[in-house]
Amino acid sequence: MIGHVPVLTAESLQYLQPGHGGLFVDCTVGLGGHTRALLEHGATRVIGIDRDPAALTAARAALASFGDRVELVHADYRTLDAILDARGIQVVDGALADLGVSSLQFDAPGRGFSFQRDEPLDMRMDTTEGETAADLVARSTEPELADAIYAYGEERFSRRIARAIVAARREQPIATTGRLAAIVRRAVPHRGYQRIDPATRTFQALRIWVNRELEGLDRFLEAAARRLRAGARIVVITFHSLEDRIVKHTLRALAAGADASVAVLTKKPVVPGEGELEHNPRARSAKLRAAERIVSQG
Ligand code: SAH
Repeated sequence: MIGHVPVLTAESLQYLQPGHGGLFVDCTVGLGGHTRALLEHGATRVIGIDRDPAALTAARAALASFGDRVELVHADYRTLDAILDARGIQVVDGALADLGVSSLQFDAPGRGFSFQRDEPLDMRMDTTEGETAADLVARSTEPELADAIYAYGEERFSRRIARAIVAARREQPIATTGRLAAIVRRAVPHRGYQRIDPATRTFQALRIWVNRELEGLDRFLEAAARRLRAGARIVVITFHSLEDRIVKHTLRALAAGADASVAVLTKKPVVPGEGELEHNPRARSAKLRAAERIVSQG
């Protein structure tokens, strides 16, 4: 399996400044790359959250040498308040959220995130609950499909694709990534050389829809910001414009509110440098935004 190289690690450390120690929460621990960096650079303890049990298994192995300096929690980061409450923790010394899918999820066979292989159309990050992409594709109406593909995939041929999906599923349920990709490719007009596979946007849309990736992102960021000790920071890394827009607006709103609870530290998003882009394809569309808590808990 291809290793997961954490994105924008140096930049994350620069904002989070774990050098003085303290408790950090990694809301998307994944394979543990960022958590490892925090621990190696001085964090006393990290709580690592992930909704994917397979990610936690990988993180547990990768972080074993840190012993009880790491606690791994199987949960959705949108339940951050409950996670911290249950541990009697009021504030943390820094928070990180590296959104989206890990290369483990994307590259491991059988998860259904990629159309590069033919496999069951699942796409759930949390494999213990919820509907799969195949379920959604089977039960949604044509307008629901079109709207989701348009909104989450920014796909201009969303209506055609939705129509093709509904026609195809009448013949036979769409159960695999290969069949869905073929349906989408046939539905989209061909224009000579194509830089990306025509199925890319539809697959992104379904993934976001299945995992409700944009839902409650704003409330999560507000909750995380409230949990920062004064002077502590939150770093958020996104991989597509829909997410980045929410992060940008939510952080700005927190900075501008009547109680102006944070200061935004990144006027423009921080993006990877040439060197990182050369070595890590996952970094290509990464954007980092950071904010600092400026008032004490009230
Ligand atoms: N920073 C990690 C990689 C994170 S990849 C590393 O260095 O290894 C993003 C991770 O976020 C994935 O493992 C995914 O399962 C997780 N994730 C995405 N949405 C989530 C949510 N709502 N709650 C908890 N984890 C989530």
